[in-house]
Amino acid sequence: MAEIIRPWGIIPETILLANPRGQCAGVIRTVEFIEGEAIKAREEGKPGPTVVGQPIHNEYEIARLKALGVRVVEPEDLASIPQGSRTIFRAHGTPPYQFKLADELGLDWANTACPYVMTRQRIVWQRASQNGSYVIDISKRGHPEQLAVYGVAPDRVYPVEDIDQARNLQLPNDHTERGIIITNQTTLSTTETEATRSALCKIFPHAVIVDGICHATDDRQEAVRFLAKKAGKFLVVTGTRSHNGKMLGKTSWQEGTPAQLIAGWQDLSPEMYGTQVVAVTSAASTPEVLVEGVVNFFWQMGVQDIREDGLAELVERERRIRFAPVEKNPRKIF
Ligand code: SF4
Repeated sequence: MAEIIRPWGIIPETILLANPRGQCAGVIRTVEFIEGEAIKAREEGKPGPTVVGQPIHNEYEIARLKALGVRVVEPEDLASIPQGSRTIFRAHGTPPYQFKLADELGLDWANTACPYVMTRQRIVWQRASQNGSYVIDISKRGHPEQLAVYGVAPDRVYPVEDIDQARNLQLPNDHTERGIIITNQTTLSTTETEATRSALCKIFPHAVIVDGICHATDDRQEAVRFLAKKAGKFLVVTGTRSHNGKMLGKTSWQEGTPAQLIAGWQDLSPEMYGTQVVAVTSAASTPEVLVEGVVNFFWQMGVQDIREDGLAELVERERRIRFAPVEKNPRKIF
């Protein structure tokens, strides 16, 4: 008998949309600021603004900003920014030496770092640079936020990525007198961070803990835990470099539900959704239009039962968060 192929696979009966999901207050603040500067530059006939590093971790959103005239350069190419192009530092933080260099180059700059990231940098600056304490920073190697925090006090900050590195960490002998703080990147897995922190606390029981996980990370992982129990598969719409997006997928796997990371509906294949109930979430930098593409994909396939299924109190909490606008002409930051 001939083999029968059904290219659409098993069509789900229900699609559940996690809530909270998608762009957080910090990302929205950065994106709106960049858009505003691009429009202003166009109106005034000036060069478009230049963002130093990836403004946020979503390729679709970056392409959209570039179409508005925004340039993106790597941090080491600061000197290539043309005079007259507004220089914008990214959402997940910048080491202080780059602000200094921008000043030396005479650039007109603004810092769109999320207030959660700035708070971590300021605490590290105060405790390490001012008080001489050591800082253990649980963070992803090479992530912009790790570089931003490390750059505040390179001689005092000790990044660790996981529990193994935590167990092997050696601090200078005077750490008892100087004091230690243990902090962590805003977008990590809450459960893994807790495990790494516990290992560190056994070695350094006198350390002070500064929990850096932001509300957006916490809430989106909580919403995944809530929905994972109801779904056979989880789809995470995310940019490839988004750490919080990867952690949403990991959270679902931890709950026993297989997860797939996708950039948008174009990535979908039958083995990703071949189950009765599929849950969908998106990273804190993913624009909602990409989730709508996934919803439309299933709608076109004939799935009728597509609905939000979230945690009302977290949705309400997010709705109330309003950050102060980005400072147009920042004063001294550190
Ligand atoms: S994920 Fe958290 S730290 Fe990052 S921009 Fe959003 S609110 Fe700020």
